[in-house]
Amino acid sequence: MSGNKSRVQAIYEITNRKVKPFKTPKKLEEMWATDVFTLAKMQESLPKSVFKSLKKTIQTGEPLDVSIADVVATAMRDWAISKNALYYAHVFYPLTNSTAEKHDSFVSVQGDGSVISEFSGKVLVKGEPDGSSFPNGGIRSTFEARGYTAWDVTSPAYVMETDNGVTLCIPTVFVSWTGEALDKKTPLLRSNSAVNKSARRVLELLGHTDIAPVSSSCGAEQEYFLVDSHFAHYRPDLLLAGRTLLGKPPAKGQEFDDHYFGAIPERVQIFMQDVEECLYRLGIPAKTRHNEVAPGQFEIAPFFESANVATDHQQLTMTILRQMAKKHGFTCLLHEKPFAGINGSGKHVNWSVGNRTQGNLLDPGDTPHANAQFLVFCGAVIRGVHKYGTLLRAVVATASNDHRLGANEAPPAIISIYLGTQLEDVFEQIRKGEITGSQLAQVMNIGVDTLPEIPKDPGDRNRTSPFAFTGNRFEFRAVGSNQSVAGPLVAMNTILADSLNWIADKLEEELKQGTELNTAIQKILKEIMEKHGNVIFGGNGYSEEWHKMAVEERGLANLPTTADALPVLKQKHIEELFDRMGVLSPKELESRFEVYAEQYLLSLEVEAKLVANMAKTIVYPTAMKYLSQLMNTLSSLKDIGLEGDLSIVKQISTLTNEMMVQVQKLQDAISVHDFESTEAKLQYFAKTVRALMDEVRKYADALEAEIADELWPLPTYQEMLFIK
Ligand code: ADP
Ligand code: MG
Repeated sequence: MSGNKSRVQAIYEITNRKVKPFKTPKKLEEMWATDVFTLAKMQESLPKSVFKSLKKTIQTGEPLDVSIADVVATAMRDWAISKNALYYAHVFYPLTNSTAEKHDSFVSVQGDGSVISEFSGKVLVKGEPDGSSFPNGGIRSTFEARGYTAWDVTSPAYVMETDNGVTLCIPTVFVSWTGEALDKKTPLLRSNSAVNKSARRVLELLGHTDIAPVSSSCGAEQEYFLVDSHFAHYRPDLLLAGRTLLGKPPAKGQEFDDHYFGAIPERVQIFMQDVEECLYRLGIPAKTRHNEVAPGQFEIAPFFESANVATDHQQLTMTILRQMAKKHGFTCLLHEKPFAGINGSGKHVNWSVGNRTQGNLLDPGDTPHANAQFLVFCGAVIRGVHKYGTLLRAVVATASNDHRLGANEAPPAIISIYLGTQLEDVFEQIRKGEITGSQLAQVMNIGVDTLPEIPKDPGDRNRTSPFAFTGNRFEFRAVGSNQSVAGPLVAMNTILADSLNWIADKLEEELKQGTELNTAIQKILKEIMEKHGNVIFGGNGYSEEWHKMAVEERGLANLPTTADALPVLKQKHIEELFDRMGVLSPKELESRFEVYAEQYLLSLEVEAKLVANMAKTIVYPTAMKYLSQLMNTLSSLKDIGLEGDLSIVKQISTLTNEMMVQVQKLQDAISVHDFESTEAKLQYFAKTVRALMDEVRKYADALEAEIADELWPLPTYQEMLFIK
């Protein structure tokens, strides 16, 4: 690349590109789930008894009858082949936030040399990918290196069309041969069944007899940036780290807020239309789309689904956003902070629990009885978030999310709950025990209807809270845009299940002693509020005062970086929680800490090397070139007897020297290898290495501001954010 020629060329290409024409959208019914092996398709193609048995497993979570696998496999294969599939893949979700798949062909060579398409029940149910390269945190030593994928019947199979052809994709769990979870799906399924068990206990105690399986639901709002790929290709940092490691902020950023909900640029609209068509074909209910706060930033949100399916769909959505962006000449950046000084991207995870018979258990409803039930479930969440707030912080801890949390645009790294004014007041009344004596029983008997009515959709919103009640669900806002939602959902489900069990124990005890049900509920909720009410906060979560008050007065933890947050996974009470709830064994949990720590360190190391590299091989030569031009000009001026201004030369030379000093320090820093523990290494990278990266950047960005635009080789923030 020579000087800004490549930038000019890129801008030329972009502004002269042929935009794909806008198509009249197809009818939704024509697209909907055409690429999914849905229940309806199963019903059409399977014998009645087989379908009935499979449906039961899907809808109630009952164990799969393995004897039907062959029949299902054949039907699935025939359907996939009718969609032109040549391959099948067990899709699984390793601990890297990514999606992995191993493709196999249906081809089976016969004795006479002919081939047939074969897909047996055995192959459908269990696969053995060579997954030895996936991080497992020491669970699989080489002598037991086998990892198995096993069909997750509750998430539908689908076909995926890429440039490589059509593949039948089967969602699976990924476990070691000793049955330990190596993936993100296994604990999610386990946490869901923990919620089911504990919620059932509570519902029974509340007097219900007809109780359908309880499960969690999730609707995840995905934020992302689009940058023209001409620009992205000239930026090694965007290509390798997914974010800019250098770059001076543009004169105009998001100050005017004119992008938010503004008109979506035509080219982006056409991209979105294609994304949505793809999602609809895969049965993913994309619902809203709009511009986000930053220029070049957008959001897509689906209608919520069961947590397990929503998680698989969320992974697919990220894949499709990336793939479709390429087809439209964009690079889709899912990184939490692609541009310094510009709002980053998050993934709001909307979460609720419920079932067919009692409905959404976090819906305040308007009947008193439902209110009491709601207060119990909401109280359980309050207790869980207070007791295990640091766990919620730990499950959103990644190198990239560190740039966003607490950065005056995203929730702080302190976990608190926002309930909205009215609910907060209800729980304050409970804490004070204002409803006392005989009045208490009476009030609770006619329900809690002396309490102010809880509007379904509270008008007020608090965007500064990491964990907010939004009408009939909680919204976990600290989740990173690049993350799998599985980890956060596992944490929320597990802490809820634990609290529900605690409540059930207490209730049983009270009832045994003859306490009347409503009095008992009141008593338990009061205890929850006394011990855990401190986690409720309705004020400005971005403010300095809150950061101080949260820690000093409320005793909440502020864990600013991943290095501070990840070690939470090693704490005894967290280990006991997951073990007790049957979600992760101590060994599985420990392996997760190891894997996540390793990923954090790896990504920081890559970034640190890249910063040093870019400073040395891009910024430094450009500065030298400019200096030599300036020097030539100065000496020509001297030749004709004029005195030029030396100050700019001096400044550039000083900045360049300083930058190179910092580069050397950074390089020395990452060559240190002696650490007494993983925790110590995490801290070292979070503090020393990151600070040195920032130092290099400071000088590089100062140079960008001084050097002639004509020579600057990297596409600028201004260009990347504003040219579409
Ligand atoms: P906002 O941007 O105001 O937070 P959106 O409408 O963009 O809200 O997104 C809200 C998300 O919450 C959607 O994915 C929606 O389907 C989901 N959602 C709505 N109700 C529930 C619920 N009961 N449980 C889980 N998710 C829900
Ligand atoms: Mg939201």
